[in-house]
Amino acid sequence: MTLNDTIAAVSTPRGKGGIAVIRISGSEAFAIAERVFEPMGTKRLSELRGFTAAYGKMYRDADRTKAPIDDGVATVYRSPRSFTGEDTVEISCHGGLLCTENLLAAVLAAGARHAEAGEFTRRAFVNGKMKLSETEALANLLEAKNASQLKLARSGMEGKIEKKCDGIYENLRSVLAALYAKIDYPDEDLAEIGNEEMLESVKTAAAEIQALADTYSSGHAIAEGVKTVICGRPNVGKSSLYNAIVGRDAAIVTDIEGTTRDVLEETASLGGVTLRLCDTAGLRVSEDKVEMIGVKRAYEKLEEAELVLAVFDGSLPLSDEDRELISRLSCRKDSVVAVINKCELAPIADRKELLEVFGEVVEISARSEDGIDALAKAVENRYLNKELDLENDAVVFGARQYAALSRALEELHAAEEILNGKYGTDAAAFAVEGAMGARAELDGRQIGEDIVSEIFSHFCVGK
Ligand code: GDP
Repeated sequence: MTLNDTIAAVSTPRGKGGIAVIRISGSEAFAIAERVFEPMGTKRLSELRGFTAAYGKMYRDADRTKAPIDDGVATVYRSPRSFTGEDTVEISCHGGLLCTENLLAAVLAAGARHAEAGEFTRRAFVNGKMKLSETEALANLLEAKNASQLKLARSGMEGKIEKKCDGIYENLRSVLAALYAKIDYPDEDLAEIGNEEMLESVKTAAAEIQALADTYSSGHAIAEGVKTVICGRPNVGKSSLYNAIVGRDAAIVTDIEGTTRDVLEETASLGGVTLRLCDTAGLRVSEDKVEMIGVKRAYEKLEEAELVLAVFDGSLPLSDEDRELISRLSCRKDSVVAVINKCELAPIADRKELLEVFGEVVEISARSEDGIDALAKAVENRYLNKELDLENDAVVFGARQYAALSRALEELHAAEEILNGKYGTDAAAFAVEGAMGARAELDGRQIGEDIVSEIFSHFCVGK
């Protein structure tokens, strides 16, 4: 991948549509677009001002010997005022598959290289149009499936996290300057900030970064999704609950025990939380070899899960298998929501016993979907901080961002210790600089090429 050539790709989804857009970006964008697009007016595309459009015809060859491929509109963007920061032309043609392919082929024949996945956005990042977490927010915006994800992505695209960090780091910069002054001129009393004041600044910065890092549990639950496992003994209604949450008949529901043998996985929204949901085989001992493989997998999934929806059949007393599960989960109660299903039938299962162990029990009927709202509330209460305003607050939504903040925190705590113990100024400067470095990692100023490639590979071609 080079960053100097001109790239092109279809930027609209593949398939039939009213229009399709082909984006051409790079120093040769106007020249290439002019080879395939002939405006009806007197001005050539390269003569148009930025943000203006021209109607015209599209051709396969610069000599115009063959009939036009299509007609449509070309919009011109001039560097640096475009998505990528480069000269860009977006040609809208009719959205038929063949029509779009013909136009793309003509653009490539005219000298553009086919863009790789995420390459337009990568150029926007490299050219300083977007910070790294803004591009990550953009990826989430394209994938957003519920209102919380959309709000979070929109606010991420406004660079809220970077702005918050900028404020925090302004103070640290003066601490660092003071430390350097002490190192360079140890005998002179040059530092404007004393030790006490430096310590205070470092502590404040650490507290603010901690507060920002704490938003990750909500951000993760919304954007990345919580690894969730539905478990319980056979026939309690796990598959019915799975279907109720994913909103379709994805899992087979029968009254025959041991039907679910493999692990089913799907991403679904429950209230404002995104669940990476697994339905698992009913937990019991069986003679059936295949079923037991399913049970083994269920236990493995249980170990990895961030959230367990432990389902019990309300119409029956708790069995030995239920109690086995309860005891297995009792040491990780914070990640368990106990669910009593079939609550429209006469309740028999010992609700009190479950309540004592898990502190909270949600009663549902997976069949009629009664109580699913209450389940959503219980899950939201665990993962979403109600005080957070997703549209206006800085909310950390990615593991990479969280890791950078955690590193910054470690360095600041080290700096705090050093300043407290009145160790060498050099060591304190080193730690504060480390924290500043972690911040540069967050917005992508100081990040490895391999990580950048990994981030952009998740985009689709054309974005
Ligand atoms: P799994 O084996 O735990 O996955 O349970 P299923 O979802 O396959 O359900 C087992 C049986 O219980 C089926 O006959 C379902 O129709 C029934 N069932 C599931 N949920 C409910 C419910 O809320 N009320 C009642 N009465 N029956 C249910």
